[in-house]
Amino acid sequence: MKYKTLKGLQDILPPDISVWQHIEAGARDIFKNYGFQEIRLPVMESTDVFIRSIGETSDIVEKEMYTFQDKGGRSVTLRPEGTAPFVRAYVEHHLYNNPAPQKYYYMGPMFRYERPQAFRYRQFYQIGAEAMGIDDPKLDAEIISMLALILGSIGLVGLNFEITSIGCKNCRPGYRSALKKFLNDKIDKFCKDCQRRFDINPLRILDCKVPSCIESRQGSPPVLDFLCTECEGHFKSLKKYLDILSVSYTINPNLVRGLDYYTKTAFEVSSESLGSQKAVAAGGRYDSMVDEFGGPSTPGIGFAIGMERIIPLIKDSLSEPAGPDLLFCPLGDEAAVKAFLLTGQLRAEGLWVEMNLESTSLRSQMRKANRIGAKNVIVLGEDELKTGEISIKDMVSGEQNKSLLEVNQLIKIIRKET
Ligand code: ATP
Ligand code: MG
Repeated sequence: MKYKTLKGLQDILPPDISVWQHIEAGARDIFKNYGFQEIRLPVMESTDVFIRSIGETSDIVEKEMYTFQDKGGRSVTLRPEGTAPFVRAYVEHHLYNNPAPQKYYYMGPMFRYERPQAFRYRQFYQIGAEAMGIDDPKLDAEIISMLALILGSIGLVGLNFEITSIGCKNCRPGYRSALKKFLNDKIDKFCKDCQRRFDINPLRILDCKVPSCIESRQGSPPVLDFLCTECEGHFKSLKKYLDILSVSYTINPNLVRGLDYYTKTAFEVSSESLGSQKAVAAGGRYDSMVDEFGGPSTPGIGFAIGMERIIPLIKDSLSEPAGPDLLFCPLGDEAAVKAFLLTGQLRAEGLWVEMNLESTSLRSQMRKANRIGAKNVIVLGEDELKTGEISIKDMVSGEQNKSLLEVNQLIKIIRKET
């Protein structure tokens, strides 16, 4: 074959697309009840948008970005995630002037140059949500419970919600020193990347996936022991509010997110059914990002769900989409023109109608009716045209109903209004 999708990319075709639509529609309904509005942002941004916010030493910026020069010599990057572009838009359009919390959601493709494997693609889709302007942990609990509701409503079960707090700019330095002290005399056991990270961003070492690094960092000091009074109080309240909302969670003091911008609350949702790529959604609070993008100091919190990781978990539980309400099987040219006209008229009335466009035998037309799952079939031959009377075959019950070849009567029979 001459052309194929690029490595790590995939075409999403029917009938699978109905699973995507089911998830997206379910999420939209819930977002509406929580007051989240949709935003659609470009898939590329100025490269700087990602470097500053995600962090120069993060895996995403170091290894995974699709970055190139456009014809004007500007460095642009296909978005690897949605929060940094969102904050860019939030500041650019002064969205902070709206009453807080300002709540937005997005759905769309993200791009990361990763090694393709099961549940890990180079173009993948996220459903993300961001809530701005409020630091109160009630908002954190609300966001996490909304995420639980979205994942639950599409039929996911057996998920593990892990939460932690990773502190703020006041307590992070203390933790950083303690971590460096712990790593100091064993840093030569770590991979080259981690040795470099030791000086510039030691917290990243906790997120390294190299098995020997995972082994060597066992027993590192837990971040929760280093929280300042404010972060500690915030985390305590978050747990209380999650309990009030009956969201079950486990505390994972070793949860480090792959992005540098998080402060205080961080969380990840995983499913054991997915094997090693088990994170289905993740998020956290980012209280200094708006500031860094040149806006007024504004706290924010958000999450992103990975579509390709939730689809395999529900795919089999959804039934096949239904076929058309009606299929016309015309026999001969004149019948085909009449069927052509009626097909258009009935579609305009809100029915899904198909007609056979090839002049094939009645037998092969009926075979097609079964293959596409048509609910009703009308065979239109010379006699029917002459008398203006047809019979509609209900393909489920096998029943035949007589009708005039006339739009209103056809609609009534198909909608079973007679
Ligand atoms: P992982 O640890 O699996 O690499 P991550 O921490 O890099 O995940 P985030 O940046 O938090 O992922 O993105 C949120 C969600 O997006 C993840 O939980 C996952 O479901 C999904 N995701 C991330 N990268 C990919 C990818 N390459 N292919 C498919 N889904 C992805
Ligand atoms: Mg990753």
